Amino acid sequence: MSLYVRLYLLVITVLLLAALMICIPVLVDIVREGLDRREEWQTGEREMYTPDPEFEAGPPAVLDEERANLPPGKVACPYCGATNESGFAFCGHCASPI
Ligand SMILES: [Zn+2]
Repeated sequence: MSLYVRLYLLVITVLLLAALMICIPVLVDIVREGLDRREEWQTGEREMYTPDPEFEAGPPAVLDEERANLPPGKVACPYCGATNESGFAFCGHCASPI
């Protein structure tokens, strides 16, 4: 093996070890946090599902006049109100069924 190859391998090894040393505390924190969460779920301190008030409120209402003012061949999405070409099954903006 030539000197340059050995030097290259040495540098790569040192860099990989340095990267690993930097990563280890972060990985340990991630695992620790996951274990803490699991314990909180099991003891009931934390809920698995946290309700999102914005989502729970349901789709925003699209005004009938907005719907009526659309040019022919266009459809308003019942969820986000985006204007879509008629004939599509899903909204091009939010992917809700039209
Ligand atoms: Zn939409």
